[in-house]
Amino acid sequence: MDIRTKSVHTGVNKDSSFNSVITPIYPTSTFYFEAIGKNKGFDYTRSGNPTRQALEQNIAAIEGGVGCSVTATGMAAITAVMFYLKPGDHIVTGDDIYGGTYRLFNAVLRPMGFDFSFINMRDHKAVKEAIGPKTKMIWIETPSNPLLNIIDIESITKLAKSKNCLTVVDNTFLSPYFQAPLEFGVDIVVHSTTKYINGHSDVVGGAIIYANQQLEERGRYLVNALGVSEAPYDAWLVLRGVKTLTYRMEAHQANALKVAQFLEGHKNVKKVYYPGLKSHPQQALIKKQMKGFGGMLSFELNTKKVDLNAFYKKLKYFALAESLGGVESLIESPWFMSHVSMGEAGLKASGITPETVRVSVGIEAAEDLIEDLGQALKG
Ligand SMILES: *Cc1c(COP(=O)(O)O)cnc(C)c1O
Repeated sequence: MDIRTKSVHTGVNKDSSFNSVITPIYPTSTFYFEAIGKNKGFDYTRSGNPTRQALEQNIAAIEGGVGCSVTATGMAAITAVMFYLKPGDHIVTGDDIYGGTYRLFNAVLRPMGFDFSFINMRDHKAVKEAIGPKTKMIWIETPSNPLLNIIDIESITKLAKSKNCLTVVDNTFLSPYFQAPLEFGVDIVVHSTTKYINGHSDVVGGAIIYANQQLEERGRYLVNALGVSEAPYDAWLVLRGVKTLTYRMEAHQANALKVAQFLEGHKNVKKVYYPGLKSHPQQALIKKQMKGFGGMLSFELNTKKVDLNAFYKKLKYFALAESLGGVESLIESPWFMSHVSMGEAGLKASGITPETVRVSVGIEAAEDLIEDLGQALKG
């Protein structure tokens, strides 16, 4: 079955009471038993709920996993995955990962005794050297946020397997439509479904997708034990959103490419980061592991020519906001907003500057977006 069909049909036809075409919301905390030990597969909503299960089946299918747990937020998914480990374990990850992930790793888990190496994961040798006897997990985010650096999923996963480390990929930026990490041997994929999978900026959520049953069993146990599963109402909204994921991704990508090309040719823009541009330095890797370029791009604004706040103020269609992946275009400064928790040293090390502008390109008409950016870039 094609992913466009899976995203519409998997987990969806569930109502045998009244034949509703759409999966009902089951807003119940608990389920009654017909006798001791006899129920219809659900007993308590923290552990399981039919609406949530429908979404889990859908996301497992489109990501190509054996199963999925959906969680209250993307960070809830990431938190649950870190509980596969214990204090004393060492994790290797990138130096330009999502700011909230960095905060959880560096400011919450590190003081609890977890050890992290934040490195440039494009450098295979650096990854190899960072792995020691206590390393238990390699955490990959690709393309990275906000600079769209690409990390070689297959070669790092091979290396991790030879060292008995779990590999986890945060696949939020490309969505299952443009990247399938499990095909490269990855153990676990996580998503912030807040972004492209839901796609309408009206709910927060997360997902954990498992490569095998053993991982799934432990993952489900953890999500229930930690109490981070997604509410049925929220799961229902995400299930509505995911059905149009594939078509939205095509539209995001077509627009992002046009916007990136426009920005690259503008005199007040110093540099554009977008995997769909020929100027992106990692062409071979992009071709090997990505099925598309996605809808995120960043650029360096010449703030000597264009005042940053005036630029944001002039924009009509790009709301100055964190987050990404919704149908409407958003714009922001990672240095001052989304990535602040990295601290100045961390920001500098990863190549983010006060002039870096991140854009989540929406599905509006590309001509309108370009016209809007053009008038704001005049300075
Ligand atoms: C937003 C985001 C998260 C966190 O997800 P929330 O739903 O905001 O908790 C994690 N990783 C990436 C790449 C993200 O963009």
